[in-house]
Amino acid sequence: MKNQKTRIETTCVQGGYTPGNGEPRQVPIIQSTTFKYNTSEDMGKLFDLEASGYFYSRLQNPTCDTVASKICALEGGSSAMLLSSGQAASFFAVFNIASCGDHVISSSSIYGGTYNLFAVTMKKMGIEFTFVDPDCTEEELHKAFKPNTKAVFGETIANPALTVLDIEKFAKVAHAHGVPLIIDNTFATPINCRPFEHGADIVTHSTTKYMDGHGVAVGGCIVDSGKFDWMAHKEKFPGLCTPDDSYHGITYAEKFGKEGAFITKATAQLMRDFGCTQSPQSAFYLNLGLESLHVRIPRHCLNAQKVAEFLESNDKIAWVNYSGLPSNKYYALAQKYLPNGSCGVVSFGVKGGRKAAEAFMKALKVIAIETHVADARSCCLHPASATHRQMNEQELINAGVPGDLVRLSCGLENYQDLIDDITQALASI
Ligand SMILES: *Cc1c(COP(=O)(O)O)cnc(C)c1O
Repeated sequence: MKNQKTRIETTCVQGGYTPGNGEPRQVPIIQSTTFKYNTSEDMGKLFDLEASGYFYSRLQNPTCDTVASKICALEGGSSAMLLSSGQAASFFAVFNIASCGDHVISSSSIYGGTYNLFAVTMKKMGIEFTFVDPDCTEEELHKAFKPNTKAVFGETIANPALTVLDIEKFAKVAHAHGVPLIIDNTFATPINCRPFEHGADIVTHSTTKYMDGHGVAVGGCIVDSGKFDWMAHKEKFPGLCTPDDSYHGITYAEKFGKEGAFITKATAQLMRDFGCTQSPQSAFYLNLGLESLHVRIPRHCLNAQKVAEFLESNDKIAWVNYSGLPSNKYYALAQKYLPNGSCGVVSFGVKGGRKAAEAFMKALKVIAIETHVADARSCCLHPASATHRQMNEQELINAGVPGDLVRLSCGLENYQDLIDDITQALASI
């Protein structure tokens, strides 16, 4: 693909990679930890960040960079990096601008692993988090800020609560306080929502989910919009706006500008020191998933919509949560931020509570029991007896996962087969 500006479908298929004459049509897997140079001087320039190039795959690898630039183009960002997992992406995105003694605001409706990372592990590192209700007013959000607040974090569509975030509201308040908004866009994917178009500054992904789409490789990604002006808030972001001694006094925001500072720092410092790299082999699998993302996502959404409508009309079902249903609390926000559909995940309660939910799931034939979501194969989970097993009934309700909740990730099968499977399983309880 030469320098033509393309639509998102074409970017999914061809973005990030333009082979030269006689070069491989498919993205090559550069399975090499290291790279050869003719002189020590050539290599020295790389170490000083004076020239760009590869020297060791813990920092950067050509296959990973090719796939990162495809995701960057899909999100409409300025630079991007792949990481070993979505967890690593969330950690790096926050830790790149917040350190010991700093404060971060996060929506309370986020992935359980991210909640644990923020509330327990990063707290031990001296970073304090305030969790706010995603439906809070602007006023309430303003009140959560402190002089040492460095970022605001939320999920476009939260896993597993399926709340839809009002990204523009969160961006407006974050910017009023001179800090960036970081959005985990895993469930929506850039096919259904591009948070930068609504004011977000940094986007993270667990590429393990829809981007991979086939349940083959764990991975993560961070994309920078290149729009946040770090130098305008110099005193808040010393890591980006003052010299880095470990790189001979380079100041990232000066040398790499708004477009490159965030990802360069995260690569040069955090990847160097923590080494949460994605393998080139995994990046290759991820790229295969990306090639069909725009074809798969609408089908996941169609299947989820049909299944949600069926569940809502079934008298053995207590409640259904899917933002594509007009009865849903987030329907209006979903129409605004996710006009083409939200995602393939639906949650619902089976009448008869925990026992009925367990019996229902045991009777399923096409839909499998897994902790995964966003796979080509439909799967479901009963959080109360799996991921949230340690909690009592009251704690489950507080966490937004009541005992009767079943999380169903609709795959790419024929939706009538999913409905038939649910029908027979409900009939058996
Ligand atoms: C799964 C998930 C993560 C964590 O990603 P891993 O690749 O499992 O580390 C983060 N955010 C969301 C929304 C997720 O669904």
